Formats: sequence, structure tokens, C-alpha cells
Amino acid sequence: MQARERAIERLKNATQRREALTIRGADSRHLTWTDERHQISTRDFDSIDSIDPDERVATVQSGVSLAALHTELTAQRLMFPAAFPAGVLRALDLPGFAEGTIGGLFSDPRESAAFPQRGRVRDHILGVEAIRGDGTPFKAGGRVVKNVTGYDLTRLLCGARGRLGLVTRLHLRLDSLPECVLVSRLGYADDAELFDAIASLRITGREPLILAVHPNGDDSSDRWTVVLADAGRRGVAYLQLGRLLERLSREPIGEITELTGEDAADPDGDPPHASSSRSSPTLSPRIRIRLPFRRWSGFIRALPLTRLAVVWETIFPFAHFGVARLTGDYPERRRMDLEGVRRLATEHGGSVVLESRPSDWEPNDDPLSDGSAASTILLRQVGQAWDPAGVLWTRNGTRP
Ligand SMILES: Cc1cc2nc3c(=O)[nH]c(=O)nc-3n(C[C@H](O)[C@H](O)[C@H](O)COP(=O)(O)OP(=O)(O)OC[C@H]3O[C@@H](n4cnc5c(N)ncnc54)[C@H](O)[C@@H]3O)c2cc1C
Repeated sequence: MQARERAIERLKNATQRREALTIRGADSRHLTWTDERHQISTRDFDSIDSIDPDERVATVQSGVSLAALHTELTAQRLMFPAAFPAGVLRALDLPGFAEGTIGGLFSDPRESAAFPQRGRVRDHILGVEAIRGDGTPFKAGGRVVKNVTGYDLTRLLCGARGRLGLVTRLHLRLDSLPECVLVSRLGYADDAELFDAIASLRITGREPLILAVHPNGDDSSDRWTVVLADAGRRGVAYLQLGRLLERLSREPIGEITELTGEDAADPDGDPPHASSSRSSPTLSPRIRIRLPFRRWSGFIRALPLTRLAVVWETIFPFAHFGVARLTGDYPERRRMDLEGVRRLATEHGGSVVLESRPSDWEPNDDPLSDGSAASTILLRQVGQAWDPAGVLWTRNGTRP
């Protein structure tokens, strides 16, 4: 029996028995809360069906690893604009990202650090094939660009974290591989200087591909490092990055690292399904703090005054979010600090979600929800219609 037929059987049986199941990709985000007996893995949905360089479209099964996809696309001078290859992520000091599957990326509702320039994941998906919670297979969208009739179900499924069904195959819209990716770093001694410089970039209306702000350790004279990246044809990319750097820095411009298409491939990467837990969740959970652009400076200054045990990892001011860790040394403290940082973010017009489910923590609520998801009602209604037994909706034995 094929993987798809097996999955249909599994979901039909689960519907009859009213068994709760979660869908598991590589589980790099630790969102699969059931034990292995109550999971559907996408491990067997592992083939890249076709890549069409002329149409710039690829059809892939949902369990294909991002690393394998990047490698195949790079060989044909193509890329999937919604995800960066591991080499680029390492150069940006963002390792540990490239661990998942294309189905997991599609089902994850979070925004990427490059979305202001590259758009959302859903903007690069032409269509999907999936199986509803009651075992009925269906298609949404298609393989060609103008194929959407009626309500665009692909957009609803994107970011639904598997609650509307098991995605088995995706049709991706591709782009040409940029000739190069350029990365540069600048140090900043204080917050005001940093955010004035970033604001001066924003008013040019030409934002870089990525702007990441990393805090430095105490041994550095600079409190922050800004990592700036742009991509494209070599001549144009150098010109654009040079202009941005001139605005950002009064000092002579330092070194620029150039990555080529070869850096995009990830030949050393392990297959994502190789182990059950590649990056185990630590005891200092990561949180995503979302804020409007102009509120960052005030928020960063206010945070140390609160005594919350929160340590910044990276801030992406143009993408309106930053990632931090809750470092309190016992679970109750971390939970209290989460609520504290949520209150502070709300005062600054923002919100906070967890990045993954902490290992020592079983929150009753959804770790990725900030309680304001606009599509939640529609998602629930479709979920109830497609999955009356609540196979993919049940959490801890109860319907959410
Ligand atoms: C916007 C964005 C940009 C990112 N950018 C990059 C990048 O540039 N490069 C990079 O390498 N990584 C990137 N990541 C990380 C990438 O999300 C993860 O690698 C991937 O999402 C997780 O895949 P996984 O297989 O581990 O998913 P899992 O952790 O297994 O699953 C995630 C969620 O999706 C559900 N799910 C998984 N598969 C399916 C399926 N087939 N059908 C239905 N539901 C499913 C699960 O139930 C779970 O709720 C990005 C993530 C986001 C959200």
C-alpha cells in the first residue's frame, strides 16, 4: 500500500475510534504533543516529484526535507523564496533553522525574518493535496499560477498546523537562485544609536533582505551587532548593500562576506526524520515577541527595568519580531515571566508567543497562539465540518 493510502486508512480508523492524532514532520518545533503511537508521520512522503525550470514550479511530497529541496533546486539554479538554505542561515548567525520538512514549513503559522522582502510562505504555494481528518482526500489550488477558484483553501491550510488535514503534496512557485548573497556586520554601542540608524534605513524605502540584531556578550565594547544581508546579481547586490551600509555606519565599511549558489546546498545535513529529537527543547524556552517597528527602542529600554528573566537572541525589526529566551531557573518563574513579558509587549502594542513547546511545560493553551488569530473561527468551522470526530483537533482529550 502507498503512503497516501495508508494515511487515508489510518485517519478513517481514527475517526471510527475517535482517536486523537497529531501530524509529525521532523518535529523540529516540538509541536507534536501525542506519543508515537498517536502520530501520523510524513516520513514516507519523501519524493521530489518534479522540478520545472521553465515554468519555475516544483511538485514535492510533504515529508521532503528543506535541506534536500535546497540541494536539488540549487543544482538547477533555482530557489524556493520562502526558505533559506542552511549555508545562508549559518552566515547570518541563524543556525539550527534548517531542520524541518516542506510540509512543516507550510503548516507553521509564523512569519519569516525575510517576509517584508520575500513575502509569506503562502505566497509561494500554488496548490496542495491533502487528506481531511475524516480520511477524505482533497486538492486545493493547482500546479499552475492562475488556478484559484472560489475561496483559496491553500491559504487557509497554510499555517493551520495540521488541524485541517494531512498535507501530502505541494506545488511550489520558484525563483531564480540569486548570483550571490552578501552579508555584513556592524557594531553599535547603545540602543538609541542603533535604532536611529535602523530608522534611517527604513525611510529610504529600500529594506535589505535580512536585518538581524544580535546582542553581544559583556566582553564586547559594542552592545549590539547588526547583521545585514542582501541578495541578487553581484554588481547590483554590492551597490545596494553599499548604500545601506553607508546609511548605517559613520565608520569605514568593514568586511563583506559573499556567498555563492554552492553555499546554498546543504550536503552535510542529516535527513530530518533521522532522530526523534534533533534539537531538544531546552529549559530556557524561546519566545517570539512581536512589536510595531517604532516600538522596539522603547521596549528594549523598558525590559531591563522589569526584572523579568528574559535574554534576547535576535531581533528582526523590519520583520516586526524578535526571539528571546526565558531564563528563569524553575518552571513557575518562567511561566510568570512569560505573562510579564506579554503584558509589557501588549503595553507597547505587540504580542508574545512561544516558539516551541518546552519539554517541562504542558501549557493548557496553544503555545503558538497569542489569542488573536483572525482566522481561528473559520479554521474551527472548517475543522469541525471536515473532521467531525475531532481526530486532528483534540488536545489532551478535549476539543479546544
Ligand atoms: C516563515 C518561516 C520561515 C522559515 N524559514 C526557514 C528557512 O529559511 N530555512 C529553514 O531551513 N527553515 C526555516 N524555517 C523553519 C521551518 O519552519 C522548519 O524547518 C519547518 O517548519 C518545520 O518542519 P518540521 O517538519 O520539523 O515540522 P514539525 O515540527 O514536525 O511540524 C510543525 C507543525 O506542522 C504540522 N505538520 C507537519 N507536517 C505536516 C503536514 N505534512 N501536513 C499537515 N501538518 C503538518 C505539525 O503537526 C506541527 O503542528 C522557517 C519557518 C517559518 C515558519
